Amino acid sequence: MSENENRESLNFIEQMIEEDLESGKNSMVQTRFPPEPNGYLHIGHAKSIVLNFGLAEKYNGKCNLRFDDTNPAKESTEYVDAIIEDIKWLGYEYGDEPLFTSDYFETLYQYALKLIQKGKAYIDDQSAEEISAGKTNPSTPGIPSPFRTRSIEENLALFEEMKSGNCEEGSRVLRAKIDMDSPNMHMRDPIIYRIKKVDHHRTGDKWCIYPNYDFAHGQSDSIEHVTYSLCTLEFRDHKPLYDWFIKELEIFPSEQTEFARLNLGYTIVSKRKLLQLVEEGKVTGWDDPRMPTISGLRRRGYTPNSIKNFAHKIGVARRDGITDIALLEHSIREDLNKTANRVFGILDPLKVVITNWPEDKVEMMPAVNNPGDETAGTREMPLTREIYIEQGDFLENPPSPKKWYRLGPDREVRLKYGYIVKCVDFVKDADGNITELHCEYDPETRSGHDTSGKKVKGTLGWVSADHAVSAEIRQYDRLFKTENLNTIEDDFLNHLNPDSLTVNKSVLLEPSLASAQVGDQFQFERQGYFIVDGDTTEGNLVFNRTVTLRDNWKK
Ligand code: ATP
Ligand code: MG
Repeated sequence: MSENENRESLNFIEQMIEEDLESGKNSMVQTRFPPEPNGYLHIGHAKSIVLNFGLAEKYNGKCNLRFDDTNPAKESTEYVDAIIEDIKWLGYEYGDEPLFTSDYFETLYQYALKLIQKGKAYIDDQSAEEISAGKTNPSTPGIPSPFRTRSIEENLALFEEMKSGNCEEGSRVLRAKIDMDSPNMHMRDPIIYRIKKVDHHRTGDKWCIYPNYDFAHGQSDSIEHVTYSLCTLEFRDHKPLYDWFIKELEIFPSEQTEFARLNLGYTIVSKRKLLQLVEEGKVTGWDDPRMPTISGLRRRGYTPNSIKNFAHKIGVARRDGITDIALLEHSIREDLNKTANRVFGILDPLKVVITNWPEDKVEMMPAVNNPGDETAGTREMPLTREIYIEQGDFLENPPSPKKWYRLGPDREVRLKYGYIVKCVDFVKDADGNITELHCEYDPETRSGHDTSGKKVKGTLGWVSADHAVSAEIRQYDRLFKTENLNTIEDDFLNHLNPDSLTVNKSVLLEPSLASAQVGDQFQFERQGYFIVDGDTTEGNLVFNRTVTLRDNWKK
């Protein structure tokens, strides 16, 4: 590939980076991932993580993990710890220690003093409503605050009073003095410090004034010498303000670049709304396997690889869109197809008696663990006189053998890794349900040693009745029944799918699964991919269905 062709396959951020490195504008790629610890990370954050950490890896740079912890009322160490666990699980390194905006509170305070001393910030005693009303709207000039012309000395004294705790919450704020007529509302003297008499999860009661997002974010980037500050498109209008602070403070010139956030079909990607689902008990917790959180996806059976591949496939764009959830499901199937061992699990068991099989005979049948991976080896499945197959694999009045390869009266199928059996009779209960089949096996047809010359098209999964292990399976559907949740006008809770969880406690599994450990993943042949859940206890195996086998993703 020539250099030019190479450059064209890059996304717009990579193109920008390569141009900057070439021209000498930047000598190193320093990015950061800046979560606010007010909830658990979700799949949208994963996109940002893969982007920021991925760029640092690709260009031998560094990506910082920085907690944007400027709003103590909503933040906690529980969230900090969960975020760290998720990033580590995804397999990314952020240096020895995570960073915290709260570690820069003193520096940010000094920056605020500098702005006041330059006559570029003032204390405003107006109420929040008055400040907001004074900003008017983008097409009308703003109304300057009566406090805008306060002297530098008075502003310094009042800021000191705010800091010392002598002012009531909401009684005054510090505002940058920029342009009350700007068409960009963020430039109309934004609030940069407010009084909050709330203990902070790291700094305790040391501070009672806190910088707001705009005054903390860009400056923290600058303190860390971040060269590429990547954020989602909603922050485009904040960029002039980001640049203004850096220019006025004469600090390291970090630069902000916006990319499209991830919106995923049938999925909420907002910590605030996900918190609401948790608090109102709509899900069992942040790690409910139906949640689009990283911890939920992990418990559901998603792997770090599948999430990274998904993020790479969707790429980065400059315009918002909505991503088909089938692409996420495709990524996990693609990964598990390579790594998950195949096993038999019967979800809706129908008893079969092989009438010509001796009562006590147990024959061990070798079964292939992963047809795509020889190194995965084989296991032995005990075949006995009584077995279970799927209820759906038998029809009393099946269509012609060309259309129905499975069992019916007098029909033949192969038990996978076993023998060909023929259904000779069946038993019905009073309600007309089929409760038992009677079959005869053909001893000449042992799998791999078939001397009969018989051909059958149907191959069925089965488990030995004497050896089967019972289990509970939790099957998940989409948490919401509406694809595009960005355009709804009513409460998002109205769009919850009432059938997002189905519990099946009558599952029978092949005996090799008796020793399965929490986190082990399998393909149940013809059923889907499953993972052993942490709710498993001695004698009660619980599985989550990660995803079904069918792939609806159109390439
Ligand atoms: P939320 O509304 O869910 O709280 P947020 O953007 O406020 O999202 P932060 O913790 O502030 O959450 O985000 C950390 C980083 O993750 C930010 O750089 C943000 O741009 C990015 N991010 C958050 N949501 C998405 C998303 N859906 N797609 C891509 N990046 C995202
Ligand atoms: Mg946020």
